[in-house]
Amino acid sequence: MPTPDRNLRAVNLPTDWSPLSWRDRPAMQLPTYPDESALESALSELRALPPLVTSWEILALKQQLAEAQEGKRFLLQGGDCAESFDACSSDVISNRLKVLLQMSLVLVHGLRKPVVRVGRFAGQYAKPRSADTETIGDVTLPSYRGDVVNAPEFTAAARAPDPRRMIKAHARSAMTMNFVRALIDGGFADLHHPEYWNLSWVGHSPLADEYRRMVNAIGDAVRFMETLSGSEVHNLNRVDFYTSHEALLLPYEESLTRQVPRHWGWFNLSTHYPWIGMRTAAVDGAHAEYFRGIRNPIALKVGPSVTPDQLLRTIDLLNPEDEPGRLTFIHRMGATGIADKLPPLLEAVRRDGRRVLWVCDPMHGNTESTSNGYKTRRFRNIRSELEQAFELHAAAGTRLGGAHLELTGEDVTECLGGARELTESDLERAYKSTVDPRLNYEQALEIAMLIVRKQAQ
Ligand code: PEP
Ligand code: MN
Repeated sequence: MPTPDRNLRAVNLPTDWSPLSWRDRPAMQLPTYPDESALESALSELRALPPLVTSWEILALKQQLAEAQEGKRFLLQGGDCAESFDACSSDVISNRLKVLLQMSLVLVHGLRKPVVRVGRFAGQYAKPRSADTETIGDVTLPSYRGDVVNAPEFTAAARAPDPRRMIKAHARSAMTMNFVRALIDGGFADLHHPEYWNLSWVGHSPLADEYRRMVNAIGDAVRFMETLSGSEVHNLNRVDFYTSHEALLLPYEESLTRQVPRHWGWFNLSTHYPWIGMRTAAVDGAHAEYFRGIRNPIALKVGPSVTPDQLLRTIDLLNPEDEPGRLTFIHRMGATGIADKLPPLLEAVRRDGRRVLWVCDPMHGNTESTSNGYKTRRFRNIRSELEQAFELHAAAGTRLGGAHLELTGEDVTECLGGARELTESDLERAYKSTVDPRLNYEQALEIAMLIVRKQAQ
């Protein structure tokens, strides 16, 4: 018999599942480790290390996502395509947190509803690849699969999968979490002083005026409430921040899947909110099998080839009891595909009365290569996919409850267009990503403002 948690109704635990049961299914996108005993020793070390998050936080997030499903909150999920071990630094972490906080401030102010803040960080170290190997000249080596697996340099030593990297990924994730928690506990997000969140170069942005007006309006509102109540309004210095990553490297995820004394079932304690990537989303695959048994809220990327029937079977597998907050679908169709591909999926889920949170990822269906060899995305396509998503949901009688974005607080030039109209020749100036192109600070803020305008229509 399942024991009910205090805030959630009882959900039956699958009896034919264990943290290892994925091993009997076809697994896509996993590296082949050359040395089995080195792998086993790294995994047993990981199993003994402390977790990165707690079951209390995970269940609190699930509750917030349940509210987002009902339209009472909006989900903002964003961060790097892939974190790198080298970029686990004070500036990168705090600038990324700043831009996410600033975007959420724009959303809270404009949408008049609380925002669920989720970072793609503290564990976003594994990447799916379109090919297992890469060939340059007459040399063929394993593809780079993210810092938790191997290194990007094109040498045999760098590209060999190394299980010790999982220990390092756990440590880097813990450092990132620790710093984020300390910043937030220390008042980094204090609404009394939103002006402190400005990044140094916000002054150059054409959006700066609109943003400053918003910050002033919030400052006025806080002071007004304090005048009314005659004392300081508390709790304005605290925000909830949650973590997410693509739970791709199943041996790593399995090692951090734990039982805890106060809650029944199994939790992935490496992150609050893992997702299944598009390339590993097969309903009979190893990743779906692993995800089915954990109690975290989970998300699934939904690409243009998914059929309504596959989507319903996925819901049957991952959320058979229709638990609130449990399942998120992140659609990523591309600006030219969304109008055809999304409506049949929305209609099938709506007709079946299934409870999901719909989120739009306007990044991954809009990736292209430029003539000078850069992987990029055009701001106008990102914007168009997001705008169409709002309209298609409204037409289908469903609700777009969040946005999933690749962004950074650094001043990079990776995506084309936006308020400063970055062009192909700008890309070489500050292209830092080893994987997908990210929105820079200004482009990210512009997207937040766009969401507000679209919702207000
Ligand atoms: C990603 O989120 O970086 C990614 C690889 O996405 P998708 O699985 O949707 O292609
Ligand atoms: Mn990506």
